[in-house]
Amino acid sequence: MPRDPYEVLGVERDASTQQIKKAFRQLARELHPDVNAHDPDAEEKFKEAAEAYEILSDEERRATYDRYGHEGLRSGGYAPNFDAFGSIGDLFEAFFGGGGGGFGARSGPMPGGDVAVAVEVDLLEAAHGAKVEVAYEAIERCEHCNGNGAEPGTPITTCDRCGGAGRLQAATRTPFGQMVRTVVCEVCEGDGRVAEQPCRQCRGRGRRASKRTIEVEVPAGIANGQRLRLEGRGHVGELGAPAGDLYVLVRVREDSRFVREGDDLITALDVPAPLAALGGRLEVSTLEGTTELELTPGTQPGEVLTVRGEGMPTLGRGRRGNLRVVVNVVIPRRLSDEQRELLEQLHGTLTEENLRSEESMFAKLRRALGSQAA
Ligand SMILES: [Zn+2]
Ligand SMILES: [Zn+2]
Repeated sequence: MPRDPYEVLGVERDASTQQIKKAFRQLARELHPDVNAHDPDAEEKFKEAAEAYEILSDEERRATYDRYGHEGLRSGGYAPNFDAFGSIGDLFEAFFGGGGGGFGARSGPMPGGDVAVAVEVDLLEAAHGAKVEVAYEAIERCEHCNGNGAEPGTPITTCDRCGGAGRLQAATRTPFGQMVRTVVCEVCEGDGRVAEQPCRQCRGRGRRASKRTIEVEVPAGIANGQRLRLEGRGHVGELGAPAGDLYVLVRVREDSRFVREGDDLITALDVPAPLAALGGRLEVSTLEGTTELELTPGTQPGEVLTVRGEGMPTLGRGRRGNLRVVVNVVIPRRLSDEQRELLEQLHGTLTEENLRSEESMFAKLRRALGSQAA
């Protein structure tokens, strides 16, 4: 059974129409989806309040309810029908008119919308910074009519349809009966003024979409997925309002040689097993070229050597991260007869002392599995 409508609206049984209206508005304000997006019950609560209002705002219905309760209303053929509305937003629209019904409704000229584009750079460009051309489409003020929508030299007059107000009262049939709401005038689109001869280039809209190409400075050190914001480079706003912004999503292409971790770069270096045992100097690739690396005798698989300052720059600062070189000891996969003999000889001479290590089993596992915790 539905709740008592007086209770739902929190009014006395002898409340005036004015008090009922006020109570409902107050409740609706609290339940509005813009205010109350976090409350999943808001829609149900609003429907309950709307039903209570529907009963109490109608004299005849209210009298029936007062005498016979909900059952009296139902048997009289009355049934609330709020499910006809698609969403709570539509419900508010029907009740309070367009633009959220005065709950923070926008006034004044509308600012332009934002535009989002994506660009791709490679790792080297991300490290050094790059200038990238970005092409996108944005709404701009029509140059031909200078944004006023009239063919140059022709007059602009007050809109006949709305008398210059830009808005009209429109009656809509809803489950609550006839609702009067305010809508934007369809002739002047809210301007209140119309061009007698609409601009040929923009068909009187004063604005038009155009392709733009601009050069965007991608700063050194940018990471994959970061966005740059270019203020005022989005769609143009209505006269007197600012333009929107351009957001540039920067994607950094994957590199075949380096993995990035924060400001560090990580690479793998193949070292033949005998060389790992003997040690020596090795050439390793950096982002910009190569560098020499000193391998100590007895280097183990998974050991990490650090080359200072060969990583990525820190965004907005001068210093750079490091290059971490993970030693990948490569065991020969095929052997000639001679090599096999040599290895057999070596194997025969190895003692416990040759292989001894201070590492615990866990440390060995961590290193072999490539964990940084080793
Ligand atoms: Zn124009
Ligand atoms: Zn108008």
